[in-house]
Amino acid sequence: MNRIKEYDYINRIIRFVEVVAFLIISIVVIKNGSITTHAMNAVTVTDANNTTQTTVNTTQQQTTIDPAVPANTENIVMLPPANLTCEEGKAFVKLTWGEVAGVTKYCIYRKVTTNKDDSDEVFEEIASTKKLTYKDKAVEKGNLYEYYVVSVGVDETKVSSPSNVAHCFLEPDSFLVSSMVTKKNKIKLTWKEVPAARKYIIYRDNSKGKYIKFKETDKKSFTDDSVRNGKTYKYKVVYRVPVLDGTFIEKESKVLKVAASKIDPDKKMVALTFDDGPGKYTQEIVDCLKKNDARATFYVLGCNVNSYRKAVKNAYNIGCEIGNHSYDHTILTKLSAKEVSKQMSDTDAKIKKITGKKSVTMRCPGGGVDKTVQGAVGKPIILWSIDTLDWKTRNTDKTISAVMNNVKDGDIVLMHDIHEPTKRAALYLIPKLKKKGYQLVTVSELAKYRGHKLSKGTIYHSLRKKK
Ligand code: ZN
Repeated sequence: MNRIKEYDYINRIIRFVEVVAFLIISIVVIKNGSITTHAMNAVTVTDANNTTQTTVNTTQQQTTIDPAVPANTENIVMLPPANLTCEEGKAFVKLTWGEVAGVTKYCIYRKVTTNKDDSDEVFEEIASTKKLTYKDKAVEKGNLYEYYVVSVGVDETKVSSPSNVAHCFLEPDSFLVSSMVTKKNKIKLTWKEVPAARKYIIYRDNSKGKYIKFKETDKKSFTDDSVRNGKTYKYKVVYRVPVLDGTFIEKESKVLKVAASKIDPDKKMVALTFDDGPGKYTQEIVDCLKKNDARATFYVLGCNVNSYRKAVKNAYNIGCEIGNHSYDHTILTKLSAKEVSKQMSDTDAKIKKITGKKSVTMRCPGGGVDKTVQGAVGKPIILWSIDTLDWKTRNTDKTISAVMNNVKDGDIVLMHDIHEPTKRAALYLIPKLKKKGYQLVTVSELAKYRGHKLSKGTIYHSLRKKK
């Protein structure tokens, strides 16, 4: 009896274990079954797709490297939108994509390439919509925008993989490059940065009309230090915006023609200046300068300009500076500020009619200057370091010795081109100074190459090398 009881008890335990085991197995089977069902659904849907969509899906696989997309690939049942395209509108980017069945909304993700925050360029969700199109109005010229769209199902956890990535580069209104010749006689090109550009490529004309790739930089300027004095160069700058998979967009600037200066900053230079003209000897001096590849500064009187227009024009054309010496040689310290200003502007008007430009520097008649004059002339005041006294001696030899006995780098020499002995002195001095190794330059050139930034109302006697 006891045994039977014992047996019965064991039997019950076995039953119990059996039931528990069955339950466990059932749960596992049901669970497995559901996975299988899901997997099969997914396969069925994928099979129903056309080839285009499959191709798009393949591309997405390659470009899906984004942390913003849910990583739970097991659950993906939603299809991503197909054929995402974007086009540039007026101050917006318009996105369009193909419809996906069973979608409640589409989420739009965007990545911006700009120079403002290039440290963390990632895709971020910017909007969601039920429509098949979206206008992104938060855009700026010069940036690159990349987008993808994700489908979201009824159950918000059902999210598709990203669509193809579409990009839109908003070209800036202009890409202007400017150039300058530095005081060390290098050519410097400067441009306004294009925010999405990561590289600028400089091309230089090889003087046979072919542009050769010259230099690459990520900066917004470039200095060409391989230029020869007096030679003219042509440049083009191309900016490069990298897009997907190593491809890029490139745009080029207009051609820039830049003449390297004829001046060698390492050689001596001097500025010859001629006052009180233009007069009947001016043209001869200009011819001599031209012949010697030299330049000077003519401080002209406004009242004389019309009588010698041609000489002024010729002087300007060979690179001479036409400075302002007042209209009629009135000593400016005797005038009011308003009158001083009129002396300047009347003369500038005469000069501008011939050269197209106002004068840059001025010289006070008789060297007469005070605070009122300084405040009223509106230009740097150029006096002199060598006074030849040519107007007093009217002697060619004395004028020549005054220069040759004293001249050094950075000097400004005072002469008057209305006197015949001065003309003869000039015709001797110009080749002589060149032979002695001096470059004959204008006052403005001397200032530039000796590192002086001339300022209005300031008096300069010489322009020596700045230490
Ligand atoms: Zn004078």
